[in-house]
Amino acid sequence: GATIRVEALTKTFPGARSPAVDTVDLDVAAGEFMTLLGPSGSGKTTTLNMIAGFEDVTSGRILLDDTDIARLPAHRRNLGMVFQSYALFPHMTAAQNVAFPLRQRKVGRAEIARRVAEALELVHLGEHADRLPSQLSGGQQQRVALARAVVFSPRALLLDEPLGALDKKLRESLQLEISRLHSELGITFVFVTHDQEEALALSDRVAVFRDGHIEQVGTPSELYETPASRFVATFLGDSNVFSGTVRGGLLDTGSTLLRCDGPDGPGCLVVRPERLRIGAGHDDGTNTLSATVTDVVYQGAFRRILVRFDDGTTGLVRDAGDAAPAATGERVEVSWKASAGVVVS
Ligand code: ADP
Ligand code: MG
Repeated sequence: GATIRVEALTKTFPGARSPAVDTVDLDVAAGEFMTLLGPSGSGKTTTLNMIAGFEDVTSGRILLDDTDIARLPAHRRNLGMVFQSYALFPHMTAAQNVAFPLRQRKVGRAEIARRVAEALELVHLGEHADRLPSQLSGGQQQRVALARAVVFSPRALLLDEPLGALDKKLRESLQLEISRLHSELGITFVFVTHDQEEALALSDRVAVFRDGHIEQVGTPSELYETPASRFVATFLGDSNVFSGTVRGGLLDTGSTLLRCDGPDGPGCLVVRPERLRIGAGHDDGTNTLSATVTDVVYQGAFRRILVRFDDGTTGLVRDAGDAAPAATGERVEVSWKASAGVVVS
């Protein structure tokens, strides 16, 4: 796989007041699975399309193994692309669809037959080679699109919400397929999604997009455990957020003081729900708040316990179920180790 380095990449659409992508820097290592994650309209597709060559750059550089490709036509970049909409040719069979990029590249007949068979095998569609897209399910069509995108041994594979059109169960099985494809091919993947669970499940690293810029880049656990901002904390997974002012290791929320570890000044304390427990803390390294249980949701392996703290703010406890049962309306204490919280701006 190739390395992809994006430097100060910017796109301003004609007539737009602000850039859709604003001086974005991103380094993707060779063979890495990098995900661009963010809400709708945050600039993920525009960034991917500039890398692919479907969208002109306003300014900035795109280096593929140290060569600036930002002004090369798409077909000369040698990148595979998969879209949410499959974009298969409806009048061509699965095999003909997969053969298409090889035909364009003037590959010989025998070589085409061999590589098409191989690519269809790779996505477990060998026996469906002669079917038309209309004779295949949505998941199978997307697997044809995957085979077509990798059949010419691209230097990287770019995927824009490839599972967005599929229902949950199918999406999960195709996630596994894409993960397997990534490790079998060993090429660089840049994957776009707005689904944080999908991003956490698949990626080596995730770049979190917000309003055309990258808020944070990190491994799934880095983003989850040490979010750089309130936006990242709340976009990835559930969190309890207490806002106030930090002074000398205490966050003053206006109604209580919470132990935390962060610089003095305005800040938010983020605590993940599985770090909270029902019951008072027993040493001075913990925080304890009184609350009323507002809802208990049984989820099999754990429970989600919604509470209202006495200052009226809400909280979420994820409880493995071994603590004393909490019922709606019950008065409880909620505690957590101060070291389990992260202070963000
Ligand atoms: P995402 O993929 O994260 O949902 P996009 O990259 O599609 O976001 O869009 C980023 C911003 O650029 C949005 O505000 C969108 O409206 C705008 N935009 C995208 N494509 C165009 C276009 N062809 N012309 C004008 N504005 C566009
Ligand atoms: Mg998009």
